[in-house]
Amino acid sequence: MTHVITAPCIGEKAGECVDVCPVDCIIEGEDQFFIDPDLCIDCGACTAVCPVDAIFYEDDLLPEDQPFVEKAKQFFMEA
Ligand code: SF4
Repeated sequence: MTHVITAPCIGEKAGECVDVCPVDCIIEGEDQFFIDPDLCIDCGACTAVCPVDAIFYEDDLLPEDQPFVEKAKQFFMEA
């Protein structure tokens, strides 16, 4: 399991999450930030500081946010 960054990040990219992540697994992409699912330790620190409430635990994602799981995986596969 991992935390996932969803639609509100697109165009916002506030970036507070990057500063608080203890394992430095949040990387800036072209349109949004992404969490590396292989490195995230599910501490929840990023969720607490996100000003647009874009970050969710994978199990808590709404159905419409599910594509962001795959989008993040794809981002790190291509990185
Ligand atoms: Fe980093 Fe913790 Fe957020 Fe995972 S849940 S991305 S480890 S701050």
